[in-house]
Amino acid sequence: MNRFAAEIDLDAISANVARLDQVSGDAAVMAVVKADGYGHGMLPSARAAIAGGANWLGVAFAEEALALRAAGIDVPLLAWLLSPTDDFESLVRADVDVSISAPWALDLLVAAAERAGRPGHVHLKADTGLGRAGATRADWPDLVTAAAKAAADGTVEVTGVWSHLAYADAPTHPTIAAQVAAFTEALDVADRAGVRPRVRHLANSAATLSLPDTHYDVVRPGIAVYGLSPGPEVGTATELGLRPAMTLRAEVALVKRVPAGQGVSYAHRYTTQRETTLALVPLGYADGVPRHATNVGPVSIAGRRYRISGTVCMDQFVVDVGDDTVEAGDAAVLFGPGDNGEPTADDWAVAVGTINYEIVSRIGARVPRSYTVGSA
Ligand SMILES: *Cc1c(COP(=O)(O)O)cnc(C)c1O
Repeated sequence: MNRFAAEIDLDAISANVARLDQVSGDAAVMAVVKADGYGHGMLPSARAAIAGGANWLGVAFAEEALALRAAGIDVPLLAWLLSPTDDFESLVRADVDVSISAPWALDLLVAAAERAGRPGHVHLKADTGLGRAGATRADWPDLVTAAAKAAADGTVEVTGVWSHLAYADAPTHPTIAAQVAAFTEALDVADRAGVRPRVRHLANSAATLSLPDTHYDVVRPGIAVYGLSPGPEVGTATELGLRPAMTLRAEVALVKRVPAGQGVSYAHRYTTQRETTLALVPLGYADGVPRHATNVGPVSIAGRRYRISGTVCMDQFVVDVGDDTVEAGDAAVLFGPGDNGEPTADDWAVAVGTINYEIVSRIGARVPRSYTVGSA
C-alpha cells in the first residue's frame, strides 16, 4: 500500500453507467467527466464510462475536452463553459461540440470555423430557470436566429439544444415543471427559427434517476457515474443501484500513549479525557480533508469507526482510539463504498455540512489515484 491513495474501482464506474443507460431508456448517456472526473481521474473514468455504454462525454472547460481528444478518445464530446479567451479553433479542429449561450460566443465559433475550414458543432443553451449559463427567454430568439443563419452559411451545425435544472434533487419541486415548460417553449422558438437540433438534453444525475419526463434524447449524469447519490431525496446509492467508486485510505503514520488532559493538534480543540492512544493519519486539508472535519470527520482504523480528534492540519490529523490496539502502518479508511463498515462520502458530507460532490472532487493532486478492475 502507498502512504495514502484514492483507490478507484473502474468496474464500478462502468456498471454505474450501464445502470444509468438502463434507467434512461432510449436516451443516450453523456457521462460527465469534468473536474478530473469528479476527482476520480478524468481519462480512466472516461474510458470506464465508455466501456459501460456512454455514447457521449461532457466537460466544463476547453482544456478538459482537448485532453480527452489528445488521449485518443473519439466519442462525441461537449464542452459547456467557454470564455472569450478560449481556443475555439482548437475545439473545432478537435471535433469538440461547444455550448453557446450568447451571440459573442457564436461569433467566435463562426470565426474559428472559417479559419479551420470546417463547421463548428454547437449546442444552444437556454436558461429555463437555473439563472446560471444559457440565454434568457428574452435573448433566446436572437441567439437561435443567429445560429440558424450560421447554419445556413455552413459555418455551424446545431447539434443540440439544451438546458440545466435547478432542483432536480427535489423531484417534486415546482420549478421542475416550470423548467420543462420553458424548455418546450425554447425548442418551439428554435424550431420556428429553422434550427433543427439532432439532440435535446436537460437531465443531470438526479433527473436521470427520478424524472423520466426530462430524459429527451441524451441524459447528462455526473455524480451518479461515480456511484454517489445526487441527493438524499433521490435515494441512497444502494437504493439507486449505484456503487461508490472511490475509497480514500492512508497508513497510520504514528501511534502513541498520552495522559489525560493532553491537548491535541492546533489550538487544542480536543483534550484527552483519560490516558489514551492517539493515531496520526497523514492526510490534511491540502489533500481535500475539509478543515471543517475538525472533531467530526468519520474515519475507520483497523476496521473500527472513530472521529477525528482536534484540528485538521494541512498534511495530517489525529484520532483518539482509546485503548484499542492500533499500530503504525494500519489502514485508515476515510471513506469508501461502506461495505466493511467504513464511512462513505455521504457520511463526510453530513459531518461537514456539504455535498458528496465536494468531498470527492476536492481530493488533492498530492493523493495518487490507483485503479482497480475486477473487484467484488
Ligand atoms: C456538472 C453538470 C452535470 C452533471 O451533474 P450531476 O449532478 O453531477 O449529475 C450536468 N450538466 C451540467 C451543465 C453540469 O454542469
